[in-house]
Amino acid sequence: MMDANTLTIALSKGRILEDTLPLLAQAGIEPLEDPDKTRKLILDTTREDVKIVVVRTTDVPTYVQHGAAAVGVAGKDVLMEHGAAGLYEPLDLGIARCRMMLAGHPGQQPDPGTRLRIATKFVNIARNYFASQGRQVEIVKLYGSMELAPLVGLADYIVDLVDTGNTLRANGLEPLEEIAPISSRLIVNQAAMKMRHGLIQNLIENLREAVTPATT
Ligand code: AMP
Repeated sequence: MMDANTLTIALSKGRILEDTLPLLAQAGIEPLEDPDKTRKLILDTTREDVKIVVVRTTDVPTYVQHGAAAVGVAGKDVLMEHGAAGLYEPLDLGIARCRMMLAGHPGQQPDPGTRLRIATKFVNIARNYFASQGRQVEIVKLYGSMELAPLVGLADYIVDLVDTGNTLRANGLEPLEEIAPISSRLIVNQAAMKMRHGLIQNLIENLREAVTPATT
């Protein structure tokens, strides 16, 4: 456990780290070492009372839920898939924007009458989406390269993140239905929000200003 006076921020490598560091810098928090170069998992920052931990994308909510990190940054996709028990989600950082989509072959109309087979790594998101529409589906869990599934007959459709749509197009697929708009969110451990309200509220406000610069 980190000591009680330290505020730990959980981030993940890649897009989220890249886009979050400039926002944290505007809030006066910069890692002392380049997170992409160091092998350290706990990074000191320019603020003595703030540390950054670098974890897997899908582990960020877990660290924050258990209070191992008071705050974190996670994609809405990860939060929807993981569930948000024990977490506050006070701020949309507006970064790593994309869309959760149902995709398939062009012109393919989801037939409400048949039991569709859906390949995805977002099993809960897909299940909830189709359940909310009363559509019967069978979900095939994959860990990557979802676009392949409809091409080889493993599934009728996929549920995946889409940004430019290039990945789908390159495989002869197209987005068919938007399930949810996605962006990265600041998440906060609910107990930490109560016990260390001033410190965390201050971070939220500083990040809010960084995300939406005052128009003068
Ligand atoms: P694109 O070809 O631009 O539509 O990008 C689609 C691929 O990039 C998908 O396989 C996604 O898994 C990944 N991707 C796109 N945007 C994001 C994002 N904001 N966060 C995580 N993965 C993303």
